[in-house]
Amino acid sequence: MKIQMVDLKGQYEKIKAEVDNGIQEVINNAAFIKGAQVKQFEEALAIYLNVKNVISCANGTDALQIAMMVLNLKPGDEIILPAFTYAATAEVICLLGLKPVLIDVERDTYNMDTSLIEEKITGRTKAIVPVHLFGQCVNMDEVTAIAAKHKLYIIEDTAQALGSTYTFKNNTKKRAGCIGTIGTTSFFPSKNLGCFGDGGALLTNDDELAKKIRMVANHGQSSPYIHDYIGVNSRLDTIQAAVLLAKLKQLKSYEKARNEVADMYDRLLGNHPALCLPKRNTQSTHVFNQYTLQIHSKNQELKLNRDELRKKLAEAGIPSMVYYPIPLFHQKAFLNPEIQDNDLPVTFHLCQAVISLPIHTEMNAQMITYIATTLLKIIDA
Ligand SMILES: *Cc1c(COP(=O)(O)O)cnc(C)c1O
Repeated sequence: MKIQMVDLKGQYEKIKAEVDNGIQEVINNAAFIKGAQVKQFEEALAIYLNVKNVISCANGTDALQIAMMVLNLKPGDEIILPAFTYAATAEVICLLGLKPVLIDVERDTYNMDTSLIEEKITGRTKAIVPVHLFGQCVNMDEVTAIAAKHKLYIIEDTAQALGSTYTFKNNTKKRAGCIGTIGTTSFFPSKNLGCFGDGGALLTNDDELAKKIRMVANHGQSSPYIHDYIGVNSRLDTIQAAVLLAKLKQLKSYEKARNEVADMYDRLLGNHPALCLPKRNTQSTHVFNQYTLQIHSKNQELKLNRDELRKKLAEAGIPSMVYYPIPLFHQKAFLNPEIQDNDLPVTFHLCQAVISLPIHTEMNAQMITYIATTLLKIIDA
């Protein structure tokens, strides 16, 4: 029994013929850039998500950058984002000369604590960037209400939550990434909808913005050799679009498989006083890009530290990861002397306490049981 964090080979084997045929067709047509499959994929994803426009690009980081580029933001404008996220979210803000304003997250869902947004809003605040972390949505009732009140843009980083559905208090349902001004996502191989390399997309219901996004992603061109904006070269390769067309058909079943793994972890690990399991946001479905729990809960301290625990798991053939080990404000690139650890206490705590267990579409009950029982054995030893 070989346990991996993700099993992309096993996932591929099940749809090999369709993927291979799709790739071969691209090669036969030699339309490697802007081939027909790119448009087909964009349209198929738009239907799946019930959003008016999907504009593909080269990766999820570019998607975030392009989103910030099309909103007429000026250097020094402030962007509110969670402190507990992947560096890409903050990176593009800094690259464009904008000011990242970090807010803390909820200890149990790991998502942006929306009750902390308003106190950070100033005259220069232009946008909120909710990151739907690990696969479930931020409290979007709150985010949309605050954004409307203060006239702010919402850029949803949906790299980890594609397919997740948010139910508003008035019972309206919307897909993650299709709620705010612009949504961004990634098709990095280990994301829920992953291609065989890099890929990304922007999502928006605003047709005018969609037009501008398409131009900015393609050197700011309105037509060949006519450049209306300073843009970037960020395109989804046709081969990747062909892979994604095949995999999009599986996304619903991938989501189900991931939820079955998470449910089983919940059942097997549920009662241990030293573990704090990921809490489901009742307003959102969860697509479990990661199953991330906390060790050292309030109830019981572990005898071993996280590194020792990971080493013991590895010795038993169980890989694990830490998303994310170092708070953004401790990274050399983003150091900000104004921020102290106790300004963002939950983020600081989570970086020390979280551990992500293997979760993917090819896991079976035997693997999950082995991982859970081994983990419990190690922490109780
Ligand atoms: C993966 C990820 C990104 C970046 O996506 P890439 O395609 O790797 O550039 C951005 N934000 C979050 C939250 C991510 O998980």
